[in-house]
Amino acid sequence: MKTIEIGGHQETIIERSDFPIEKCHEILKDEVTAILGYGPQGRGQGLNMRDQGFRVIIGIRKGRSWDKAVADGWQEGVNLFEVEEAAKRGTILQYLLSDAGQISSWPTVKANLEPGNALYFSHGFGIVFNEDTQIVPPDNVDVMLVAPKGSGLTVRTHFEAGRGINSSWAVHQDATGRAKERCIATAFAIGSGHLFETTFADETHSDLTGERCVLMGLIQGAFLAQYEVLRENGHSPSEAFNETIEEALQSLYPLVSEKGMDWMYSNCSTTAQRGALDWAPRFRDALKPVVAECYQKVISGEEAKIAIESNSKSDYREKLELELEAVNNQEMWQAGRVLRALRPENLVE
Ligand code: NAP
Ligand code: MG
Repeated sequence: MKTIEIGGHQETIIERSDFPIEKCHEILKDEVTAILGYGPQGRGQGLNMRDQGFRVIIGIRKGRSWDKAVADGWQEGVNLFEVEEAAKRGTILQYLLSDAGQISSWPTVKANLEPGNALYFSHGFGIVFNEDTQIVPPDNVDVMLVAPKGSGLTVRTHFEAGRGINSSWAVHQDATGRAKERCIATAFAIGSGHLFETTFADETHSDLTGERCVLMGLIQGAFLAQYEVLRENGHSPSEAFNETIEEALQSLYPLVSEKGMDWMYSNCSTTAQRGALDWAPRFRDALKPVVAECYQKVISGEEAKIAIESNSKSDYREKLELELEAVNNQEMWQAGRVLRALRPENLVE
């Protein structure tokens, strides 16, 4: 356990050494963890728990995810079941269906929650927006959250590489008096690095803002704005793509991740340094009102309503594929495909 102080704010970080895996086994020794859903998170968390010797079963409908689970060695009737059967067998239910799937499966899951069970989420959405989702757990179960701060894919690949993804944790409801230890033991069982505490509301609001802004929406918008300006001014696709995306993701951002922004500034040319220092505040001023508007729409529930409504439509996937195809067809990402294939490591000798 480490107390850190940043900007006058104190936080407690829980590290792996505070909860060695034997201690997690001791805490979870009587539990059957049922992972409901086998998307990126269900798969990553489930395989990591299985590899670490925890009693874990998967609950999923027949189809795409089911087939993936079979390919990963889960066996029907042994540790692979339909959602209802797994919910019945589990004492800790890890609710890792898509947010829309959580809404439609809730009556089934709720009916199979017994007193003293724990309901676990990796995102607070269902609970925080319960006016829209109708997900209101009974009082006699623990309700907890472990939210890995990375994609489910990295939850798995980091674990395999002996590393871990940092996760936030929260207890929303402590019916048994053991919610915290169940939550933290599970967090390390799924392969987390270190843990910081949050609430369901804070996790949800920051997560929705992050993905709409700097993690995905804003960055795609920023990439496109620069790529288009360069192309409109006669620069070649190679030049526009390399100067916008390739250099950012392959070279500069990993260095910023490792060493911080001041290091980046002090290790580029003085010309780059002067320009970046001068332009950064202008971008901050231009973007901050948009981020603030987005945050307001997240906390008002407007963004949740939009997501639930569109994701619950039966033709959601087809519509989404058309939208993604349009992104894929942007010249910027066409350039990306062509140029990625030319990276030395991707060339077949
Ligand atoms: P996802 O892609 O959102 O969910 C896919 C899973 O849900 C699939 O196994 C899918 O099965 C199943 N599913 C959807 N609707 C269903 C229904 N009506 N009945 C039964 N199963 C249904 O998965 P995810 O990205 O792993 O996310 C799971 C949870 O983790 C979410 O709460 C998410 O917010 C949270 N989380 C995700 C990430 C991330 O990076 N992805 C990071 C942190 C937290 P089919 O294949 O059969 O459709
Ligand atoms: Mg997230």
